[in-house]
Amino acid sequence: MQRDEQIFDLILEEQDRQIHGLELIASENFVSDQVLEAAGSVLTNKYAEGYPGKRYYGGCEVVDVIEQIAIDRAKELFGAEYVNVQPHSGSQANTAAFAAILKPGDKILGFDLSHGGHLTHGSPVNFSGKLYNPVFYGVEKETGRLNYDKIQEIAEREKPQVIIAGASAYSRDMDFKRFREIADSVGALLLADIAHPAGLIAKGLMNDPIPHCHIVTTTTHKTLRGPRGGMIMMGKDFENPFGIKTPKGEIRMMSSLLDGAVFPGNQGGPLEHIIAAKAVAFGEALTDEFFRYAMQVQKNAKAMAEAFVKRGYDIISGGTDNHMMLIDLRNKNLSGKEAENALVKAEITVNKNMVPFDDKSPFVTSGIRVGTAAITTRGLLEADMETIVALIDRVIVDHTNEDVLEQVADEVNDMMSERPIFVF
Ligand code: PLP
Repeated sequence: MQRDEQIFDLILEEQDRQIHGLELIASENFVSDQVLEAAGSVLTNKYAEGYPGKRYYGGCEVVDVIEQIAIDRAKELFGAEYVNVQPHSGSQANTAAFAAILKPGDKILGFDLSHGGHLTHGSPVNFSGKLYNPVFYGVEKETGRLNYDKIQEIAEREKPQVIIAGASAYSRDMDFKRFREIADSVGALLLADIAHPAGLIAKGLMNDPIPHCHIVTTTTHKTLRGPRGGMIMMGKDFENPFGIKTPKGEIRMMSSLLDGAVFPGNQGGPLEHIIAAKAVAFGEALTDEFFRYAMQVQKNAKAMAEAFVKRGYDIISGGTDNHMMLIDLRNKNLSGKEAENALVKAEITVNKNMVPFDDKSPFVTSGIRVGTAAITTRGLLEADMETIVALIDRVIVDHTNEDVLEQVADEVNDMMSERPIFVF
């Protein structure tokens, strides 16, 4: 068969973009060669509906071992008793987790999307807001932080079946213990979605949700630095609270409901090549080297936030505990969309993002979200953060000046072109 030059040329073009630019999208990272190799392996050819040892297809002996290794490594990494590595994405992990514990019309209490939450936590444009009855908590206008007393009040008033603790654009740690007290006080289940800080949580650098939350979902491709994908975990299995019984009349455990919700509930065949890549990434994340990487991600984010504050930028909540920050650009007189577009021309990739109490639409926004997971993988350190912020500042201040954008792009290329993709 003829090689598909059209597609492979485009892949090379994308590789070039990734090498030459500054990747500051908080949800992205660069995987190691071995993660990439597993993701691009012959395992993509294999159908394996079911779970290790209980498949609906023959020839699953090898993928059974691989999937079990992925599960065991994830259990060790997070201290979990139950892990399902099959969700194709973070959204599908949440879809399945909700399906296991909610009925259509049930009430969910999640972090408001416009304050930093995720689409799958009840947004009206998403399945979670269409199928369930969503109510929200948000951050305080003055502090940019969660106020747990207010969350308690909302929970008491709304009596949700499930509370979701997790976000896509919140730079502060979460108090999962307090969230559990709130959930217990209203008889709700607590689900943590740690998609963003998973890598930092795995290494003990942020609060651990596993001892406090009934269910924990995550993506595997952000700070955890694995292939694109999702995962569901539980610190301890428990009897499902709805008394659902097996055909033999026994009470079903949550693990069995979650497994059933992933397959056959929401997915067919698992992506065994991606599961192998997850196993490789979990193996990497178990090392001390990854601990040093995760610490550097956090140090870089702090250094970057300080550099922004020094230059008069309004960071929501004033700083960061994790790998990211949300910047309100209203005092700089440009929208998130204008900033994103100008920065892309300067080969600096960020995403526009709503800020809490935003007066602009999600397509325009007043802010940008910036993260350090990917640039840390490329070996950048605290001292480089000041340089990056200075480059971003030049673009923001002069965002319509094409000469400035070109000049910054040249400087970004000089800084990044000779650097391997995977240093740390
Ligand atoms: N949950 C949170 C908190 C996220 O930030 C994201 C992605 O950004 C997801 C879930 C969904 O992940 P995916 O894009 O893999 O569906």
